[in-house]
Amino acid sequence: MYIRLTGTGNAPQIPVYGCHCISCARARVDENFRRRPASAEIQTASGRFLLDAGRTDLAEWVDPKTLQGVILTHYHMDHVAGLFHLRWGVCNPIPVYGPADPNGCDDLHDHPGCLDFSHTLEAYRERKLCDELSVIPVPIKHSKMTYGYVIKGRREAIAYLSDCDGIGPESAAMIREAKPKAVIVDCSFPPGAGRNHLSLDRAIPLQEELGAQWLYLTHIGHDLDNHLMAYPLPQDGPVLVARDGLTLNID
Ligand SMILES: [Zn+2]
Ligand SMILES: [Zn+2]
Ligand SMILES: [Zn+2]
Repeated sequence: MYIRLTGTGNAPQIPVYGCHCISCARARVDENFRRRPASAEIQTASGRFLLDAGRTDLAEWVDPKTLQGVILTHYHMDHVAGLFHLRWGVCNPIPVYGPADPNGCDDLHDHPGCLDFSHTLEAYRERKLCDELSVIPVPIKHSKMTYGYVIKGRREAIAYLSDCDGIGPESAAMIREAKPKAVIVDCSFPPGAGRNHLSLDRAIPLQEELGAQWLYLTHIGHDLDNHLMAYPLPQDGPVLVARDGLTLNID
């Protein structure tokens, strides 16, 4: 089983529309530096789960025959925008797992189409999604009800924490207990900047606090990418900047 990051950008993405800063200009000439809306896919032997659905091109590359479900962190538009199109698909019902959020996003819950939103997950309760995959939802601080997820394979675990403005003691303890080999965490802003999301100075200490072998930064904004071009992180350190397409095995 593996997780592949299908997006590592914040809501504006990179390049930002109309912006000519260095990181946006770089992303226009080199696809490798582009950052789509923060999201991932988990590929198991029996199929694929999407982890958030902010990409609006899902219908072009997600085969309905192998799609086993969508796992949502929360109902902000940059995490669900792709569902507005997908819901009118002609296919079997697609289970959507996530936090109970009666407001959802716009009219998604009123007009779900082929999406089945009845699969709400209870905080801190492990849920087996298929033979080799289970998830533990851990509430994290953000401007809306938001889950991070401990994603467990047969032997290994990683934690996916986007979007995040901090982690309370109970969720932090649950993540530590899972001994994650990697934590993928929201880091939208350069040191000292922003709100509702972590900045670099607040994200880096989480590697030790959560007992992760590696910490990967995601949900990255162009100001942070500009900062990282001037002050790169050590390439052999335990804190790494994720890129779209990054793939991690979970045994
Ligand atoms: Zn820019
Ligand atoms: Zn959000
Ligand atoms: Zn977001």
